[in-house]
Amino acid sequence: MPVIENGHARSRRGIYPARYSAAGLFRRGLSHQDWPPAWRSQPVKPSYDVVIIGGGVHGLAAAYYLAANHGITDVAVLDKGYIGSGGSGRNTAILRSNYLTPEGVRFYDRSVKLYERLAAELDYNVMFSQRGHMTLAHNDSSLRTMRWRAEVNKAEGVDSEVIGPAEVKRLAPFIDVSDEARYPILGALYHPPGGIIRHDAVVWGYARGAAALGVHIHQHTEVTGIDVTGGHVRSVRTTQGDIATRTVLNATAGWATLIADMAGVRLPITTFPLQAAVTEPVKPFLSTVIVSGSLHVYISQTDRGELVFGASVDPFTSYSMRGSLEFIEGLAGHVLELMPALSKVRLLRQWSGLCDMTPDFSPIMGTTSVGGFLVDVGWGTYGFKAGPVSGEAMAATIASGQPPEIIAAFALERFMAGALVGEKGAAAVGH
Ligand SMILES: Cc1cc2nc3c(=O)[nH]c(=O)nc-3n(C[C@H](O)[C@H](O)[C@H](O)COP(=O)(O)OP(=O)(O)OC[C@H]3O[C@@H](n4cnc5c(N)ncnc54)[C@H](O)[C@@H]3O)c2cc1C
Repeated sequence: MPVIENGHARSRRGIYPARYSAAGLFRRGLSHQDWPPAWRSQPVKPSYDVVIIGGGVHGLAAAYYLAANHGITDVAVLDKGYIGSGGSGRNTAILRSNYLTPEGVRFYDRSVKLYERLAAELDYNVMFSQRGHMTLAHNDSSLRTMRWRAEVNKAEGVDSEVIGPAEVKRLAPFIDVSDEARYPILGALYHPPGGIIRHDAVVWGYARGAAALGVHIHQHTEVTGIDVTGGHVRSVRTTQGDIATRTVLNATAGWATLIADMAGVRLPITTFPLQAAVTEPVKPFLSTVIVSGSLHVYISQTDRGELVFGASVDPFTSYSMRGSLEFIEGLAGHVLELMPALSKVRLLRQWSGLCDMTPDFSPIMGTTSVGGFLVDVGWGTYGFKAGPVSGEAMAATIASGQPPEIIAAFALERFMAGALVGEKGAAAVGH
């Protein structure tokens, strides 16, 4: 039964090293036989057709779709740490497509569609739970932006609508929608297809799928330089030796400008830390993702019952990935303003990741002025949800030399042309 699109259909058994199934689980349980590794380490070759820098969801998805959709398998994914050690293993795993611009909505909607079938395609349970996503409006101007977003969303065929306080109460009965609340709720933008996913499963699923098709994944391999001669990429220097290549994809998010500098490409990106936190598990009571832009906070509940809290980026640029007491104090205050009943719940841990912010809160994707040096960066606080569509589009760009229509608006040249894709109103807090 073929499962891969675009002409490179192979049987599932042919693609994957081990087929995960209930029968397989039962068999291995009885025979005490271990599962084979998800992928095998390979020695670093002296050359590859394509080198992808960054083993997060973007780099691994691009590698997977290069192999699956275009038959390009002489590909190396290099990561200075382990796969998913960047933002892809640190995010709060919210997926949605209710953005503000038509370009943004179309792009993120394609990603949600790819995510919906990802578990089946990769034979890997990515636990996508489409539980709905609700952005609260506490003032007239928020409500106005939400109406605007809802109209753009509907015009692009995305399920999204403004609901009133009574409907908010029906969806989240514990929320105080009375006039007495410190920040009264005037309404919300409700987006049923939004939800949460298991981020590390997505990373591992793509890695396993790509490796099964021939891609090499080299962890603990840091890129230290990129050689460009005659305006074209020739090789990358790494801590495991030099690798000759004609095509390099920069998929390093928070480190994107450091890699682009190596190729002599300037990017309008600044790196900020973003923190998040999780509580001890409590009885399930929250069935949607809840965002409050005014309170700079969002909340979801995992299947295990933990509450996951997020906020906006730290107010300074840094490459530090340490949590701060200041953040947790501010976050706790805002959470309690929204849900006072949580005052007795204890925090389990907090953490931080790096976000590559662009001036318009949209990504930078495609080719650059250096031949063979491509970028898939500028993912800020919202890039996990874009992994599949970005991988698909960057693979198509590498295979054909031409960015597909779906990412045309996100080209680096837009900053020279003044054609920004302003998504701040939809991406500043509710990632
Ligand atoms: C706390 C937090 C919450 C977030 N919440 C959400 C959310 O709910 N929804 C959402 O859509 N997005 C969210 N994001 C954003 C999202 O995590 C990122 O945009 C996304 O993961 C970026 O993926 P990536 O593959 O581009 O980069 P990353 O996953 O960051 O991967 C980049 C990789 O590059 C590697 N690297 C860097 N330099 C080098 C080098 N010199 N050589 C080799 N390798 C190198 C790093 O080790 C890293 O593994 C959140 C981010 C954070 C920090």
